[in-house]
Amino acid sequence: MIDVEKLKLQIDLRLIVERDLGKSRYHGRDYAVFKCPLHHEQKGWSLVVYSDHWRCYGKCQIGGDVIAWAQHYHQLTFYEACERLANGDLPQIETVNGACRVPESMAQPPDAAWQATARHIIDEACARLWSPEGQRAWGYLVWERGLSEQTIRLAQIGYLPGAPTAWREIEGLNVPCGILIPWIVDDAVWGIKVRRAAGEQRYQQVSGGNIRGSLYLADQVQPGLPLIVTEGEFDALIAWQVGSDFTRAAAIGSASHACIDRRWYGSLLGVPRMIACMDADAAGAGAATQLAALSGAVRCVQVPSGKDLSEYYQQAGENTVKEWLQRMVDQ
Ligand SMILES: [Zn+2]
Repeated sequence: MIDVEKLKLQIDLRLIVERDLGKSRYHGRDYAVFKCPLHHEQKGWSLVVYSDHWRCYGKCQIGGDVIAWAQHYHQLTFYEACERLANGDLPQIETVNGACRVPESMAQPPDAAWQATARHIIDEACARLWSPEGQRAWGYLVWERGLSEQTIRLAQIGYLPGAPTAWREIEGLNVPCGILIPWIVDDAVWGIKVRRAAGEQRYQQVSGGNIRGSLYLADQVQPGLPLIVTEGEFDALIAWQVGSDFTRAAAIGSASHACIDRRWYGSLLGVPRMIACMDADAAGAGAATQLAALSGAVRCVQVPSGKDLSEYYQQAGENTVKEWLQRMVDQ
């Protein structure tokens, strides 16, 4: 049971609002002033926040305690707001020194026209993956990567035939041939990563996406459940497939960009523990350090064998990986 009264006393509302909106430009001894995001305020500074309550003196004319803030700003029910604030809040997440700059505004998915084209490409690639011409790519996903048919379908993975270094122009977008991994969060297409069958650069992406601003599988994140964050999409899919009873998984996509955009902080608020499982190489170690700087709730682990979760899964099998994941999130 969540003790709401105790929860309110423990939390300084000014810190919570700062985490959501960035540092306050103006403040008094016991209050801070912000542009009110609830009415998209441009000119004034109507939102006044004290340690235990807030009020918009502008258009909204509403206010309340920390729970009311979480309800309004993150659009949660009362119960969800309590749960997120009680479970593994991540109060240090904004105060990152050097490791990860917090941009002023949140990342946005590509525009509607791009997304519509991307959807056509994804749908066509899905159909091809499950047709005879996709047989080899399908075999790779199932036999080499260990993905179940259900996971492949849920992740909407597809295939675009062609030479390993070929690109095709589809409705104005440059699309690399290979296995297509769409980055879809809450029905918005943020980008399409492509895994090449061969060549120097194994992973490329369809032009015009915003994978850097996204978090792979972010809409699977669930308050109260731990989260395993991997480097690669296939690793996250394995963690999701194997550990869905006790954890959720997400991927940052590449070790060179171990940043999580503030857009996703709201959904990470309710995550009690974040397990960063990066690749066992220098880039992975750097990424793990960056993620650990985000919050005290982040812990870095490495797979016992192989270079990443996929490889460990191939070597050790489902039961061993499941047990290992369970141990990692329980610790
Ligand atoms: Zn307002």
